[in-house]
Amino acid sequence: MTKERLRELLETNVHELFAIEIDEASPQELFQALANVVKQMYSEDWRQTRKNLLLEDQKQAYYFSIEFLPGKMLKSNLLNMQLFEQAEAVFEELGVSLDDVAETEKDMALGNGGLGRLASCFMDSLASLGLPGNGNGIRYRYGLFKQKFIDGHQVELPDDWLRSGNVWEVRKESKAVPIRFGGQVYLVTGEDGKLAPVYEGGFTWRAVPYDTAMVGYQNHHLNTLRLWSVEVPAEDEAHYATLESRQALENLTAVLYPDDSNETGKRTRLMQEYFFVSAGIQSIVRYYKKLNLPLAMMSERVAIHINDTHPALCVPELMRILVDEEGLAWEKAWSITVKVMSYTNHTIMAEALEKWPVRMIEEVLPRMDQIIKEIDRRFVETMQGVHPQALLERTRIIIDDQVHMAHLAIVGSHSVNGVAKLHSDLLKSVVLHDFYLIYPARFNNKTNGIAQRRWLQLANQPLAKVLDQSIGTSWRNDPLDLQLLKNYYEDETVLQQIADAKMSNKRALARYIQHTTGVTVDPTAIFDVQIKRLHAYKRQLLNLMHILKLYFEVKDDPTATFHPRVFIFGAKAAPSYHYAKSIIKVINEVANLINHDESINDKIKVVFLENYNVSLAEKIIPAADVSEQISLASKEASGTSNMKLMLNGAVTIATLDGANIEIRDAIGDENIAIFGLTEEEVYQYYAQRNYSAYAYYESDPVLQRVVNAFIDGTIPNIQVEGREIFDSLLKYNDEYFLLRDFHAYCDAQHRVDIAYQDTHRWQKISLMNIANAGKFSADETVRNYAADIWQIDPLFAHIKEPNAASLTESVPPLGNS
Ligand SMILES: *Cc1c(COP(=O)(O)O)cnc(C)c1O
Repeated sequence: MTKERLRELLETNVHELFAIEIDEASPQELFQALANVVKQMYSEDWRQTRKNLLLEDQKQAYYFSIEFLPGKMLKSNLLNMQLFEQAEAVFEELGVSLDDVAETEKDMALGNGGLGRLASCFMDSLASLGLPGNGNGIRYRYGLFKQKFIDGHQVELPDDWLRSGNVWEVRKESKAVPIRFGGQVYLVTGEDGKLAPVYEGGFTWRAVPYDTAMVGYQNHHLNTLRLWSVEVPAEDEAHYATLESRQALENLTAVLYPDDSNETGKRTRLMQEYFFVSAGIQSIVRYYKKLNLPLAMMSERVAIHINDTHPALCVPELMRILVDEEGLAWEKAWSITVKVMSYTNHTIMAEALEKWPVRMIEEVLPRMDQIIKEIDRRFVETMQGVHPQALLERTRIIIDDQVHMAHLAIVGSHSVNGVAKLHSDLLKSVVLHDFYLIYPARFNNKTNGIAQRRWLQLANQPLAKVLDQSIGTSWRNDPLDLQLLKNYYEDETVLQQIADAKMSNKRALARYIQHTTGVTVDPTAIFDVQIKRLHAYKRQLLNLMHILKLYFEVKDDPTATFHPRVFIFGAKAAPSYHYAKSIIKVINEVANLINHDESINDKIKVVFLENYNVSLAEKIIPAADVSEQISLASKEASGTSNMKLMLNGAVTIATLDGANIEIRDAIGDENIAIFGLTEEEVYQYYAQRNYSAYAYYESDPVLQRVVNAFIDGTIPNIQVEGREIFDSLLKYNDEYFLLRDFHAYCDAQHRVDIAYQDTHRWQKISLMNIANAGKFSADETVRNYAADIWQIDPLFAHIKEPNAASLTESVPPLGNS
């Protein structure tokens, strides 16, 4: 595709979409037009991929996730279709930048944080490896809330991302399926002597799929992300004549629950879970039946993945279809189901282990209720005598009238994985130990990974250019080739080029900070970054306590010798998570205090950027010098921002938690600042119940002054929030051991400061981080899922050059807005 041809296609689209000349088009209009061109160009390959899958009779994986967090898609699609440079050139001619055009795309923010972003990184890798793997989720009308700060408080605004349409999606009316809720179910013996369910009452809504192409990296392979939206069933229009009844229905797929740990909005959430599970499974079974193979062979063509417990109803729903609709015997259906299903656990936090009252499932999903009870009954029955009764009482699915979704997922799957070595070990030894005794062979580890294309090639083009010029371009296909950078460990020129790339990214971020917050930051300061959801266990508060310590240091002695630092935060708190919101308020007030204190002389700046999301992450990460990964050991299952930041040459300050341990193993102790309690020490405290936060407070005057700052008026406007934080630390004995780790953390920060002041040493550490980041590519992770869990193979047989003839002279706009 030449630049000239691309410009022609773009012009045609601008003409047809907006009836204006190309030089009159706004960046927003140019985005729409270019996205149309892109879509037109890949539609042929998309169709072909599907045909090839049928031809090759290939097994496909379906990744069920209640969240996907792709962010913006234009640049990624341009890169993957080898159109990126041409598009840049066309816009240069037109006097706009590709960045400005791309910026107008709305973030697709159908996820809260790490979980949803992981699902999207996997989508990218699956397609780029030519693997047949599709996503299945919910098309929320509103994405994760938009965060604003008013007087330092978080305020949540709706994210009306679909308002001006979504060019990438294709509505598939003909693939809609019915979803049944409520009513009652009786089992009646039919003429064939089999029990069949008879439904009474209840209601049936329609699930309509919207498909989005997941474009592989320069390989003409396109998978599908299928998101379901609820609609009034056509034959039932009359029942939904009133605005109220329609509203109730539409609420089902209206909002993403903005909470990644606790369950809220209970009933609707349960209905959401069944809605996308049932729709997805129905559409998979329908597809499978077209293959004309016996149902017993289903696991040779279909793998279904349960991403965290939200889609755990996949197990009883596939059972329902196989038994009720296809007439299979229970045992046969169960053997198929277990072979098809696999499950990833994402957390060990007790409050995030999903449970539903039996009563609610009975009421909302009566057939699911019966099937879950039968699975539970048979589980106990088969294990009786094999395992101690007490063990079965702890592992059964229904305990104290609650359905334990993790238990359902484990019993119904052939594979259970954690997301980092430590996390998977903890599952086996502590959290799911009982299940490990029953099903040792099911347990395995798959350390998370990231889409290196998005987080380096696209987000950090200055660094990408340096890499191309030093180690060549092979890293773009194989991230492990970043290792080649080690050959330049002593190369002053390359070290300086990497530092220059970092500086230019820092300047860009400094401009963004100035523009959005009015705070001026100096790009020669250390950019110290903590970006992730706001959660007590992630310990943003520990970061803040160190900031206060530095603040007092400069107040006491203006000649303090540490290198100037800019502390950058990005984090949303769940709207119902009161404590997390208090921490946001306090960070904002500390920022206010320090940024306006002239006596600090710009040695410290604190910036809390609003509305942390994928696009903001893409701006911050390339500019980071220091990566804060300071969760209490054992609490962060893996983390992925740690990987993104490392890949961009930031130096990590970290506890031995989640994937931080594997990062340390990959780069060596000398290239990372490790501190704090280990997981073992944390568990020892739990066992011995001998932690006293007060003892640490009492014996350390520096710590005392920092903690007192929350209540002694040092920080203005935080009477309520400051007291709350103070009490959490002392009165409630500091659940996450901040006071215990404070001193070690400050020491590690001091080591970071010393290292930074030795420019040459810092540059080498940074280089080693980039060079060793390849192993955290999601490509690697997905290859392991494909080989060990899903047993799917790449489809490379039918690769061909893009079909230029399929591009007619006039490209009809495909937008469905
Ligand atoms: C990567 C990412 C996360 C996950 O960050 P962690 O530090 O691993 O929790 C969350 N939100 C967004 C927008 C991300 O890009």
